[in-house]
Amino acid sequence: MCQKAIYPGSFDPVTYGHIDLIKRAQEIFSEVIVAVAHNPHKKPLFSVEDRVGMLKKAVSGLRGVVIDDFDGLVVDYAHKQKAHVLIRGLRMLSDFEYEFQMALTNRKLSPDIETIFLMPQESYSYLSSKLLKEAASLGADLSSFVPDFVGKALKDKLHQAKR
Ligand code: ADP
Repeated sequence: MCQKAIYPGSFDPVTYGHIDLIKRAQEIFSEVIVAVAHNPHKKPLFSVEDRVGMLKKAVSGLRGVVIDDFDGLVVDYAHKQKAHVLIRGLRMLSDFEYEFQMALTNRKLSPDIETIFLMPQESYSYLSSKLLKEAASLGADLSSFVPDFVGKALKDKLHQAKR
């Protein structure tokens, strides 16, 4: 029986879609480790510390959820944590190809680790951190996509970047 699952991702920044998935995973597993990938090649807008801090605030009060960060291969991180399950999200068909490739690559690297896909509530199925950053830079109201403190951090960050 798997008690522990890892939910890896960039979380740049965390959205209601990620939070929806964390809650679903938490109903199934006794411990969910949300693991923020350093991913410098993706040139994240927020530092690892900021992404971890926002996630901690977003999930505060949720039992059995731990926030951590990792560098390197996710399968190595999973072994270090003695976990055998990775959680990933599927929104649209467009996620499928990339997620499928990644799940099978991870399986090749480490056959003892299984990737499980969860789907968010429909209203979050079009929501991505990437689109959110674009919408924020155009001054959109972010209140239905992210908690208020994330919206504020996004606006501050984009404001700093413009200066
Ligand atoms: P990555 O760079 O690893 O794709 P993301 O933070 O963009 O990092 O996504 C992490 C995981 O969360 C991915 O599996 C992605 O499909 C999933 N995800 C992202 N946004 C949503 C959403 N709105 N609903 C459900 N899953 C999501």
